[in-house]
Amino acid sequence: MIEKVEGIIISEVAYGDTSKIINIFTKEHGIIGVIAKGAKSMKSRLRAVTTKFTYAYFHVYYKKDKLSLLKEVDIINSLSNIKKDLKLIGYMSYVTELSTQVFKQNSEDNIFALYIEIVKKLNEGLEPIVLSNILEIKYLDYLGISLNLNSCINCGNKKDIVTVDPDQGGYVCKNCYRGERIVPLTIIKLLRMYYLVDIKTITSLNIKVENIEQVNYFLTKYYERYTGLYLKSKDFLEQIV
Ligand SMILES: [Zn+2]
Repeated sequence: MIEKVEGIIISEVAYGDTSKIINIFTKEHGIIGVIAKGAKSMKSRLRAVTTKFTYAYFHVYYKKDKLSLLKEVDIINSLSNIKKDLKLIGYMSYVTELSTQVFKQNSEDNIFALYIEIVKKLNEGLEPIVLSNILEIKYLDYLGISLNLNSCINCGNKKDIVTVDPDQGGYVCKNCYRGERIVPLTIIKLLRMYYLVDIKTITSLNIKVENIEQVNYFLTKYYERYTGLYLKSKDFLEQIV
């Protein structure tokens, strides 16, 4: 039976002389492998719609835990702004690799939803570092390493927060402060805002460059220390940005 699934192609490999196998991160079934017959041939109508980062409805003969077969593709969003900008392709690669890695650790439906929302905003031209950081901070819950952004990590005090410590994973209050690096209050507030924001509602991001960098520094450190994820696309990103 043909099934319609929503997804983004995350990779493609040649299959024989004229076909390819595409891997699609889908809303319905997670990551699936699909054979696109004849898709490498110039005449094929599947040729243009089976390239990496195609965001579409895919009509497939779905086979669980096996390769499915592609019949038809309806583009949802061509993501044309991302595809013409090397820097944005770098970010697209990063958020895609990050999302699929997180999904492999915790197959929650919401991971796909967050990923798609971020991709749309990337394509709309919003600041890619901030978007990546929003995704990173929201994924911490799915990685089982949430930051505590409600109260002091040591005593639960909600007042007199002086810093947020990547090593302890949350806020530190005045009474528990033991000389940790001081993260300014603006950055603390930004981290909390990134964590809580509904991505769909973001229309602009007016954040000072130095604050963007401080949040990014914090999250990069936190990821290195706690996630154990190694993402090739992050290295690539650091080279091109
Ligand atoms: Zn405390």
